[in-house]
Amino acid sequence: MRAAVLHEIPGVLQIDDLKTDKPSANEVLIQTTHAGLCHSDLHFMEGLWQTGLPCVMGHESAGIVQAVGSDVSYVKPGDHVISCLSVFCGQCNHCLTGHPNRCANHNATARSEGGGSRIQTQDGQAVDQFARLGGFAEEMLVHQNAIVKVREDMPLDRAALIGCGVTTGVGAVFKTARIEPGSVCAVIGAGGIGLSAIQGCRIAGAGRTIAIDISDAKLEIARQMGATDTINAAEVDPVQAVMEMTGGGVDYSFEAIGRKQTYEQAFGMVATGGTAVMIGMLPFGETIEVPGFLIAMQEKSIKGSMMGSNAFRVDMPRYVDMYLDGRLMLDEMISGVIALEDINEGYEWMKRGEATRTVVDFNR
Ligand SMILES: [Zn+2]
Ligand SMILES: [Zn+2]
Repeated sequence: MRAAVLHEIPGVLQIDDLKTDKPSANEVLIQTTHAGLCHSDLHFMEGLWQTGLPCVMGHESAGIVQAVGSDVSYVKPGDHVISCLSVFCGQCNHCLTGHPNRCANHNATARSEGGGSRIQTQDGQAVDQFARLGGFAEEMLVHQNAIVKVREDMPLDRAALIGCGVTTGVGAVFKTARIEPGSVCAVIGAGGIGLSAIQGCRIAGAGRTIAIDISDAKLEIARQMGATDTINAAEVDPVQAVMEMTGGGVDYSFEAIGRKQTYEQAFGMVATGGTAVMIGMLPFGETIEVPGFLIAMQEKSIKGSMMGSNAFRVDMPRYVDMYLDGRLMLDEMISGVIALEDINEGYEWMKRGEATRTVVDFNR
Protein backbone atom coordinates (compact mmCIF):
# COMPACT_ATOMS: atom_id res chain seq x y z
CA MET A 1 0.00 0.00 0.00
CA ARG A 2 1.09 3.56 -0.70
CA ALA A 3 1.86 5.87 2.18
CA ALA A 4 3.46 9.28 2.77
CA VAL A 5 6.53 8.64 4.93
CA LEU A 6 8.87 10.96 6.81
CA HIS A 7 12.45 9.65 6.71
CA GLU A 8 14.38 12.54 8.25
CA ILE A 9 13.71 15.56 10.46
CA PRO A 10 13.50 18.15 9.11
CA GLY A 11 12.29 16.66 5.85
CA VAL A 12 9.51 16.31 3.33
CA LEU A 13 7.29 13.29 2.74
CA GLN A 14 8.15 10.46 0.39
CA ILE A 15 5.57 8.11 -1.15
CA ASP A 16 6.60 4.54 -0.28
CA ASP A 17 5.07 1.15 -0.98
CA LEU A 18 4.64 -0.51 2.44
CA LYS A 19 3.19 -3.70 3.91
CA THR A 20 0.38 -3.78 6.47
CA ASP A 21 0.18 -6.64 8.98
CA LYS A 22 -3.03 -8.55 9.73
CA PRO A 23 -5.12 -7.16 12.62
CA SER A 24 -4.23 -8.64 16.01
CA ALA A 25 -7.02 -9.26 18.55
CA ASN A 26 -7.81 -5.60 19.33
CA GLU A 27 -6.99 -4.05 16.00
CA VAL A 28 -8.99 -2.79 13.04
CA LEU A 29 -7.79 -2.57 9.45
CA ILE A 30 -9.22 0.41 7.60
CA GLN A 31 -9.20 1.32 3.93
CA THR A 32 -8.46 5.02 4.16
CA THR A 33 -10.59 7.06 1.78
CA HIS A 34 -9.63 10.61 2.80
CA ALA A 35 -7.14 12.43 4.99
CA GLY A 36 -6.94 16.09 5.91
CA LEU A 37 -3.66 17.99 6.09
CA CYS A 38 -3.37 19.30 9.64
CA HIS A 39 -0.70 21.70 10.82
CA SER A 40 0.63 19.39 13.55
CA ASP A 41 2.33 17.05 11.06
CA LEU A 42 4.21 20.05 9.74
CA HIS A 43 5.65 20.76 13.21
CA PHE A 44 7.33 17.35 13.05
CA MET A 45 8.39 17.68 9.41
CA GLU A 46 10.00 21.03 10.29
CA GLY A 47 11.75 19.64 13.36
CA LEU A 48 9.89 21.64 16.03
CA TRP A 49 8.79 18.32 17.57
CA GLN A 50 10.34 14.85 17.36
CA THR A 51 8.94 11.47 16.34
CA GLY A 52 10.37 8.02 15.61
CA LEU A 53 11.56 7.44 12.02
CA PRO A 54 10.69 6.33 9.44
CA CYS A 55 7.10 7.33 10.11
CA VAL A 56 3.85 7.30 8.16
CA MET A 57 2.50 10.78 8.86
CA GLY A 58 -1.14 11.91 8.98
CA HIS A 59 -3.72 11.88 11.74
CA GLU A 60 -6.96 13.29 10.29
CA SER A 61 -8.47 10.44 8.33
CA ALA A 62 -11.65 8.58 7.58
CA GLY A 63 -12.34 5.32 5.81
CA ILE A 64 -14.10 1.99 5.69
CA VAL A 65 -13.39 -0.99 7.92
CA GLN A 66 -11.83 -3.89 5.98
CA ALA A 67 -11.10 -6.43 8.72
CA VAL A 68 -11.22 -6.70 12.49
CA GLY A 69 -9.32 -8.67 15.13
CA SER A 70 -10.87 -11.52 17.10
CA ASP A 71 -11.74 -9.33 20.15
CA VAL A 72 -13.32 -6.46 18.22
CA SER A 73 -17.10 -6.19 18.48
CA TYR A 74 -17.46 -2.41 18.16
CA VAL A 75 -17.16 -2.36 14.35
CA LYS A 76 -17.46 -4.82 11.47
CA PRO A 77 -16.19 -4.78 7.88
CA GLY A 78 -18.01 -2.16 5.83
CA ASP A 79 -18.55 0.28 8.72
CA HIS A 80 -17.58 3.89 8.09
CA VAL A 81 -15.16 5.28 10.66
CA ILE A 82 -13.16 8.34 11.63
CA SER A 83 -9.80 7.83 13.33
CA CYS A 84 -8.66 9.98 16.25
CA LEU A 85 -5.26 10.38 17.85
CA SER A 86 -6.90 10.44 21.30
CA VAL A 87 -6.55 6.67 21.54
CA PHE A 88 -7.98 5.78 24.96
CA CYS A 89 -7.23 2.83 27.21
CA GLY A 90 -10.58 2.95 29.03
CA GLN A 91 -8.99 1.99 32.35
CA CYS A 92 -6.89 4.87 33.68
CA ASN A 93 -7.96 7.73 35.94
CA HIS A 94 -8.33 10.13 32.99
CA CYS A 95 -10.44 7.72 30.97
CA LEU A 96 -12.60 6.87 33.97
CA THR A 97 -13.23 10.49 34.96
CA GLY A 98 -14.47 11.65 31.58
CA HIS A 99 -11.19 12.87 30.08
CA PRO A 100 -10.12 10.13 27.67
CA ASN A 101 -8.30 12.75 25.55
CA ARG A 102 -5.75 12.96 28.38
CA CYS A 103 -5.06 9.21 28.43
CA ALA A 104 -1.33 8.56 28.40
CA ASN A 105 -1.56 4.81 28.98
CA HIS A 106 -0.23 4.15 25.50
CA ASN A 107 1.10 0.71 26.33
CA ALA A 108 -2.45 -0.56 26.78
CA THR A 109 -3.28 0.21 23.15
CA ALA A 110 0.10 -0.55 21.59
CA ARG A 111 1.10 -3.92 20.20
CA SER A 112 2.61 -6.21 22.80
CA GLU A 113 6.39 -6.68 22.89
CA GLY A 114 7.41 -9.06 20.11
CA GLY A 115 4.16 -8.51 18.21
CA GLY A 116 6.05 -6.91 15.34
CA SER A 117 5.32 -3.60 13.70
CA ARG A 118 1.89 -2.89 12.27
CA ILE A 119 3.47 -1.29 9.22
CA GLN A 120 6.66 -2.47 7.52
CA THR A 121 8.81 -1.77 4.50
CA GLN A 122 8.77 -4.42 1.74
CA ASP A 123 11.99 -5.86 3.22
CA GLY A 124 10.45 -6.13 6.70
CA GLN A 125 11.76 -3.03 8.51
CA ALA A 126 9.46 -1.46 11.09
CA VAL A 127 7.75 1.82 10.16
CA ASP A 128 6.15 4.07 12.82
CA GLN A 129 2.60 5.40 12.63
CA PHE A 130 2.34 9.08 13.46
CA ALA A 131 0.01 9.64 16.45
CA ARG A 132 -0.49 5.84 16.49
CA LEU A 133 -2.59 6.28 13.33
CA GLY A 134 -0.44 6.88 10.24
CA GLY A 135 -3.33 8.46 8.37
CA PHE A 136 -1.54 9.34 5.11
CA ALA A 137 -1.73 5.73 3.95
CA GLU A 138 -4.10 3.67 1.84
CA GLU A 139 -4.53 1.40 4.87
CA MET A 140 -4.56 2.17 8.57
CA LEU A 141 -4.09 -0.63 11.08
CA VAL A 142 -5.04 0.78 14.48
CA HIS A 143 -6.26 -0.18 17.94
CA GLN A 144 -10.05 -0.32 18.08
CA ASN A 145 -10.05 2.54 20.62
CA ALA A 146 -8.62 4.85 17.93
CA ILE A 147 -11.80 4.94 15.84
CA VAL A 148 -15.43 5.98 15.99
CA LYS A 149 -18.20 4.61 13.82
CA VAL A 150 -20.23 7.22 11.92
CA ARG A 151 -23.45 7.42 9.89
CA GLU A 152 -23.07 6.12 6.35
CA ASP A 153 -24.83 9.15 4.89
CA MET A 154 -21.89 11.26 6.11
CA PRO A 155 -19.50 12.01 3.21
CA LEU A 156 -16.11 10.60 4.20
CA ASP A 157 -14.10 13.57 2.96
CA ARG A 158 -16.03 15.82 5.34
CA ALA A 159 -15.84 13.19 8.04
CA ALA A 160 -12.03 13.19 7.84
CA LEU A 161 -11.93 16.85 8.90
CA ILE A 162 -13.75 15.95 12.09
CA GLY A 163 -10.88 13.56 12.91
CA CYS A 164 -8.70 16.39 14.20
CA GLY A 165 -9.15 20.02 13.21
CA VAL A 166 -12.90 20.35 13.61
CA THR A 167 -13.03 18.42 16.87
CA THR A 168 -10.10 20.45 18.18
CA GLY A 169 -11.72 23.76 17.31
CA VAL A 170 -15.38 23.23 18.18
CA GLY A 171 -14.41 21.08 21.17
CA ALA A 172 -12.33 23.94 22.60
CA VAL A 173 -15.53 25.98 22.69
CA PHE A 174 -18.06 23.30 23.70
CA LYS A 175 -15.95 21.15 25.99
CA THR A 176 -12.89 23.04 27.20
CA ALA A 177 -14.35 26.53 27.64
CA ARG A 178 -18.04 25.54 27.84
CA ILE A 179 -19.00 29.07 26.86
CA GLU A 180 -22.33 30.50 27.98
CA PRO A 181 -24.82 31.74 25.35
CA GLY A 182 -24.24 35.44 24.79
CA SER A 183 -20.52 35.27 25.60
CA VAL A 184 -18.16 37.65 23.84
CA CYS A 185 -15.39 35.61 22.18
CA ALA A 186 -12.28 36.16 20.10
CA VAL A 187 -10.47 33.59 17.97
CA ILE A 188 -6.85 34.17 16.93
CA GLY A 189 -6.04 32.38 13.68
CA ALA A 190 -8.57 31.59 10.94
CA GLY A 191 -7.07 28.36 9.59
CA GLY A 192 -8.88 25.03 9.88
CA ILE A 193 -8.85 24.99 13.69
CA GLY A 194 -9.65 28.66 14.17
CA LEU A 195 -12.56 28.46 11.71
CA SER A 196 -13.84 25.47 13.64
CA ALA A 197 -13.63 27.43 16.90
CA ILE A 198 -15.48 30.32 15.24
CA GLN A 199 -18.21 27.88 14.20
CA GLY A 200 -18.27 26.47 17.71
CA CYS A 201 -18.88 29.97 19.05
CA ARG A 202 -21.73 30.49 16.60
CA ILE A 203 -23.37 27.13 17.32
CA ALA A 204 -22.98 27.60 21.10
CA GLY A 205 -24.71 30.98 20.88
CA ALA A 206 -21.87 33.45 21.43
CA GLY A 207 -23.11 37.02 21.48
CA ARG A 208 -20.13 38.22 19.49
CA THR A 209 -17.22 36.40 17.84
CA ILE A 210 -14.19 38.40 16.78
CA ALA A 211 -11.92 36.67 14.24
CA ILE A 212 -8.27 37.73 14.13
CA ASP A 213 -5.86 36.85 11.32
CA ILE A 214 -3.36 38.55 9.02
CA SER A 215 -5.13 37.44 5.82
CA ASP A 216 -8.18 39.38 4.62
CA ALA A 217 -9.23 36.36 2.54
CA LYS A 218 -9.31 34.14 5.65
CA LEU A 219 -11.16 36.80 7.60
CA GLU A 220 -13.81 36.84 4.88
CA ILE A 221 -14.25 33.07 5.27
CA ALA A 222 -14.38 33.59 9.04
CA ARG A 223 -17.35 35.92 8.55
CA GLN A 224 -19.13 33.29 6.47
CA MET A 225 -18.57 30.78 9.28
CA GLY A 226 -20.01 33.01 11.98
CA ALA A 227 -17.53 35.70 12.98
CA THR A 228 -19.42 38.91 13.75
CA ASP A 229 -16.29 41.09 13.67
CA THR A 230 -12.82 40.77 12.17
CA ILE A 231 -9.41 42.25 12.93
CA ASN A 232 -6.45 42.14 10.56
CA ALA A 233 -3.51 41.81 12.97
CA ALA A 234 -1.07 42.89 10.25
CA GLU A 235 -2.68 46.31 10.31
CA VAL A 236 -3.51 46.98 13.96
CA ASP A 237 -2.49 45.70 17.40
CA PRO A 238 -5.11 43.01 17.96
CA VAL A 239 -5.14 43.35 21.76
CA GLN A 240 -5.75 47.06 21.64
CA ALA A 241 -8.36 46.62 18.91
CA VAL A 242 -10.27 44.00 20.91
CA MET A 243 -10.14 46.14 24.04
CA GLU A 244 -11.61 49.09 22.15
CA MET A 245 -14.27 47.06 20.35
CA THR A 246 -15.48 45.36 23.50
CA GLY A 247 -14.90 48.04 26.09
CA GLY A 248 -12.52 45.97 28.19
CA GLY A 249 -11.95 42.56 26.68
CA VAL A 250 -13.65 39.27 25.79
CA ASP A 251 -15.08 36.58 28.02
CA TYR A 252 -13.21 33.88 26.10
CA SER A 253 -10.30 34.04 23.71
CA PHE A 254 -9.12 31.06 21.67
CA GLU A 255 -5.54 30.82 20.38
CA ALA A 256 -5.47 28.61 17.27
CA ILE A 257 -1.98 29.19 15.90
CA GLY A 258 0.66 28.01 18.40
CA ARG A 259 3.03 30.97 18.75
CA LYS A 260 4.40 32.74 21.82
CA GLN A 261 3.20 36.14 20.62
CA THR A 262 -0.35 34.99 19.94
CA TYR A 263 -0.53 33.07 23.25
CA GLU A 264 0.36 36.30 25.02
CA GLN A 265 -2.14 38.26 22.92
CA ALA A 266 -4.87 35.74 23.74
CA PHE A 267 -4.27 36.33 27.45
CA GLY A 268 -3.98 40.08 26.93
CA MET A 269 -7.41 40.42 25.35
CA VAL A 270 -9.58 38.72 27.98
CA ALA A 271 -11.72 40.81 30.30
CA THR A 272 -11.63 40.57 34.08
CA GLY A 273 -12.84 37.06 34.89
CA GLY A 274 -12.15 35.94 31.34
CA THR A 275 -10.49 32.76 30.09
CA ALA A 276 -7.84 32.41 27.40
CA VAL A 277 -8.06 28.94 25.85
CA MET A 278 -4.82 27.77 24.24
CA ILE A 279 -5.35 25.34 21.35
CA GLY A 280 -2.25 25.82 19.17
CA MET A 281 0.89 23.74 19.76
CA LEU A 282 3.84 25.87 20.84
CA PRO A 283 7.24 24.62 19.68
CA PHE A 284 8.62 22.23 22.31
CA GLY A 285 10.53 24.15 25.00
CA GLU A 286 8.94 27.52 24.19
CA THR A 287 7.82 29.63 27.19
CA ILE A 288 5.30 32.44 27.44
CA GLU A 289 5.22 35.55 29.62
CA VAL A 290 2.06 37.22 30.92
CA PRO A 291 1.56 39.91 33.59
CA GLY A 292 1.22 37.67 36.65
CA PHE A 293 -0.75 40.04 38.88
CA LEU A 294 -3.72 39.89 36.51
CA ILE A 295 -4.22 36.20 37.14
CA ALA A 296 -5.24 36.60 40.79
CA MET A 297 -6.34 40.22 40.94
CA GLN A 298 -8.58 40.07 37.87
CA GLU A 299 -9.30 36.34 37.92
CA LYS A 300 -8.00 35.86 34.41
CA SER A 301 -7.40 32.23 33.51
CA ILE A 302 -5.33 30.33 31.00
CA LYS A 303 -6.79 26.98 30.00
CA GLY A 304 -5.14 24.40 27.78
CA SER A 305 -7.24 22.50 25.27
CA MET A 306 -5.94 19.18 23.93
CA MET A 307 -7.87 17.90 20.91
CA GLY A 308 -11.01 19.75 21.96
CA SER A 309 -11.13 18.00 25.35
CA ASN A 310 -12.79 15.20 23.42
CA ALA A 311 -14.54 12.01 24.30
CA PHE A 312 -14.46 11.37 20.57
CA ARG A 313 -16.72 8.31 20.48
CA VAL A 314 -19.48 10.57 21.86
CA ASP A 315 -18.47 13.91 20.35
CA MET A 316 -17.70 13.06 16.72
CA PRO A 317 -21.11 11.53 15.90
CA ARG A 318 -22.64 14.73 17.31
CA TYR A 319 -20.43 16.85 15.07
CA VAL A 320 -21.46 14.65 12.13
CA ASP A 321 -25.12 15.34 12.98
CA MET A 322 -24.37 19.07 13.16
CA TYR A 323 -22.92 18.91 9.65
CA LEU A 324 -25.82 16.93 8.25
CA ASP A 325 -28.42 19.22 9.82
CA GLY A 326 -26.65 22.27 8.40
CA ARG A 327 -25.15 23.85 11.50
CA LEU A 328 -21.52 22.84 11.05
CA MET A 329 -20.07 24.13 7.76
CA LEU A 330 -17.47 21.71 6.42
CA ASP A 331 -17.84 22.04 2.63
CA GLU A 332 -16.65 25.63 2.89
CA MET A 333 -13.54 24.60 4.84
CA ILE A 334 -12.08 22.43 2.07
CA SER A 335 -9.84 24.62 -0.06
CA GLY A 336 -8.28 21.86 -2.15
CA VAL A 337 -8.49 18.12 -2.89
CA ILE A 338 -5.27 16.34 -3.95
CA ALA A 339 -3.85 12.91 -4.71
CA LEU A 340 -1.44 11.39 -2.17
CA GLU A 341 1.47 12.06 -4.56
CA ASP A 342 0.84 15.81 -4.27
CA ILE A 343 1.00 15.92 -0.49
CA ASN A 344 4.16 18.01 -0.23
CA GLU A 345 2.56 20.60 -2.46
CA GLY A 346 -0.42 20.60 -0.09
CA TYR A 347 1.92 21.44 2.78
CA GLU A 348 3.48 24.21 0.70
CA TRP A 349 0.02 25.78 0.38
CA MET A 350 -0.33 25.53 4.15
CA LYS A 351 3.08 27.13 4.77
CA ARG A 352 2.17 30.01 2.49
CA GLY A 353 -1.11 30.47 4.36
CA GLU A 354 -3.14 29.77 1.22
CA ALA A 355 -5.15 26.77 2.42
CA THR A 356 -7.92 26.44 4.96
CA ARG A 357 -8.02 22.65 4.63
CA THR A 358 -6.51 20.44 1.94
CA VAL A 359 -7.81 16.88 1.71
CA VAL A 360 -6.09 13.84 0.22
CA ASP A 361 -8.49 11.69 -1.79
CA PHE A 362 -7.02 8.18 -1.95
CA ASN A 363 -9.14 7.32 -4.98
CA ARG A 364 -7.43 9.95 -7.11
ZN1 LIG B 1 -4.26 17.70 13.82
ZN1 LIG C 1 -6.73 5.81 29.71
